[in-house]
Amino acid sequence: MGADCTYCGCDIERHEPVFVSEGSVETPPSRFCNYGCLAAHIEEEGLTAGTTCEWR
Ligand SMILES: [Zn+2]
Repeated sequence: MGADCTYCGCDIERHEPVFVSEGSVETPPSRFCNYGCLAAHIEEEGLTAGTTCEWR
């Protein structure tokens, strides 16, 4: 049934899911229940520091 948020693990289909490619073909798209989790995940992973700005 539902997919889990990459960041917090809750069911994204209860919210407004956000899907994002992190820019690598080997990496499956991440999915988040909202933009808050997306932003938190990006900060935690340090993705803002380098390669991608595509999610904006
Ligand atoms: Zn979440």
